[in-house]
Amino acid sequence: MSGIFISGGRIVVRHCCKFKADDIYYLSENELYTSRKMSIGFCPICGKPVCELIEYRFDGIVNRISVSGIKANDLMIKYSDEIVYSMKEFNYLRFKSKPYGWKYGVNKTVKINDKVKIKQYACDFYGNKELIKSM
Ligand SMILES: [Zn+2]
Repeated sequence: MSGIFISGGRIVVRHCCKFKADDIYYLSENELYTSRKMSIGFCPICGKPVCELIEYRFDGIVNRISVSGIKANDLMIKYSDEIVYSMKEFNYLRFKSKPYGWKYGVNKTVKINDKVKIKQYACDFYGNKELIKSM
C-alpha cells in the first residue's frame, strides 16, 4: 500500500495512517492480550504526531487503534503506565535527565500551604519529566 489511491479520477492522499515509527513501546500483557505494542511517529504529510496501538488477543483477533494529533497524546497518556520497555531504551541512557523524543503533557495539581498550584510537565516514556510551568 502506497498511501495514495485514485478516487473518481482525483488523487487523494491518505495520511495520518502511514508513518515510520520513531519508537515502539512494548506494553505489559494482560488477561486478554498476549502481545501489545504502541508505535509512535509523525505523519509524513501533515507532520502531526501519530500513535498506533496494536494488541494481539489470545484467540488471534488483532485490535488496532491509530490516532493522530491531540488524540495521540491522550492515547499515550492512557497507556504510559503499561510500558515495559521501548525499542530505543538503550539510547535513552544518554538522555537521562531531560525528556527525550516523543513528549506528552501532564498537568499535576499540588497543594502547598493550602494553596492549590498546577504544575505542567513535559514527560517522555523513559520516566523523565521536566517542569514547564507552575501556576
Ligand atoms: Zn497526517
